[in-house]
Amino acid sequence: MAFTLFNTLGRTVQPFEPLKPGKVGFYGCGPTVYNYAHIGNLRAYVVHDILVRTLRRVGFEVTHVMNITDVGHLSGDNDEGDDKMLKSAEERGKTVWEVADLYTQRFFHDTQRLNIQKPTVICKATEHIADMIALIKRIEERGFTYLVAGNLYFDITKFAAYGELGRLRLEDQKAGARIEVDQNKRNPHDFVLWFTKSKFENQAMVWDSPWGKGYPGWHIECSAMSIKYLGETFDIHAGGIDHVPIHHTNEIAQSEAATGKHPWVRYWVHNEFLVLDKGKMSKSTGSFLTLQALIDAGYDPLDYRYFLLGAHYRSQVQFSYEALTGARNARKSLLDRIRERVKVLGTSLSWLRNKPLPPSFTEGKGGTYLAAFNAALDDDLATPRGLAELWGILRDPAVSAEDALLGVCAMDEVLGLNLAEAVETPVPVESPGLRDSIEALIAERAAAKKARDFARADQIRQTLKEQGIILEDRPTETVWRCG
Ligand code: AMP
Ligand code: ZN
Repeated sequence: MAFTLFNTLGRTVQPFEPLKPGKVGFYGCGPTVYNYAHIGNLRAYVVHDILVRTLRRVGFEVTHVMNITDVGHLSGDNDEGDDKMLKSAEERGKTVWEVADLYTQRFFHDTQRLNIQKPTVICKATEHIADMIALIKRIEERGFTYLVAGNLYFDITKFAAYGELGRLRLEDQKAGARIEVDQNKRNPHDFVLWFTKSKFENQAMVWDSPWGKGYPGWHIECSAMSIKYLGETFDIHAGGIDHVPIHHTNEIAQSEAATGKHPWVRYWVHNEFLVLDKGKMSKSTGSFLTLQALIDAGYDPLDYRYFLLGAHYRSQVQFSYEALTGARNARKSLLDRIRERVKVLGTSLSWLRNKPLPPSFTEGKGGTYLAAFNAALDDDLATPRGLAELWGILRDPAVSAEDALLGVCAMDEVLGLNLAEAVETPVPVESPGLRDSIEALIAERAAAKKARDFARADQIRQTLKEQGIILEDRPTETVWRCG
């Protein structure tokens, strides 16, 4: 079966055909770096990662471009509200550049802990201002803009296809006036390409432009950078579902206005939201959970990845610690089952991972599970079905230990659960919760030894050993390491 994707343009699952045979250009909207990414944001990047890994498994050469929004994003996507970077810098007593650097680093630390592969190109908005200005000039030359009070706006009435992606009914929204309207806009859906009359007098990031000193609107960066790195039409663009009505709608309008080419992007992929039981998570109000919070509560980042893969990317997921505990237990059983198979075979998963699949595997029962796994992922990235096949190959007594593990390795190239490392390093040392419980057992063992209860002391050493923790008694203390 061919690889298929649900395309928001058209709202159907469609066979995927790239523009250039064998190659895929993919752009995924990156983070706005004024705060930590929350676990909802991170869902978007796990989805992008699964998409890229699947495309590579199918055999495509993928160029994955991710932007870093370090300028121009106001708290409302429609040009209203505070400047996110500036507000964060003021609150933290730092410069906007320091804030951008800090949260960019934190973001990539999180994605690395979630085993998300690095994009091919990572591009910062602030390093592409000249590209944005050049693109805005093209839009202006083609007659899609107007200038009021120093700010340059995109006039959506000049772009007939405006709102197609989101199937927007513009009149309804205008009548309902759901959005705060900038009085200078001729239409509430018009949007800013270049700001000069900022409402923020102390704007730190400003650049010279044909329209005066100022800074770009938020949407233009994604058009300018994706076109720069992927060309004037490219294959796939992704982001969260919230981007459909404004951000991606505006990206399409300005890109197609500038180039005159349609469609600019052939497949639009949108992930549904992760929500808390209390409702939405919001980076700007600060009511959100970070990956570090999950780690501090004793979870491994890959428990969270496993949790996410258990739902299809187009389904809304409700986060709860109970559900995350369920994922942790399931991942633990999975690792135990793999360890059993590894023991039978007497070889390591890392070694098997680098072995090409022999014909006997492909033709045998193991091959059937891998084919079903691939078919699930090819069917619009059906990760829950993919996980079922992973469990299937491990549970089936008719599959030899070697074939089961070969299948596991092949599936994990796509799932990215880092199973080889997880099996070989059983303890998540980053977890302070776990560290505390180890320290508590060491203290209890010291007390037991003092009370000459050597049976209990040995029992503690053995319990820890079974969890992969080795104790070393030094003259003045006991230290531990992962075995
Ligand atoms: P931001 O850093 O706010 O620009 O958002 C980064 C990405 O996360 C975008 O693709 C958003 O659409 C996506 N996103 C934001 N909130 C959530 C959420 N709760 N669940 C899933 N994706 C989200
Ligand atoms: Zn974007």
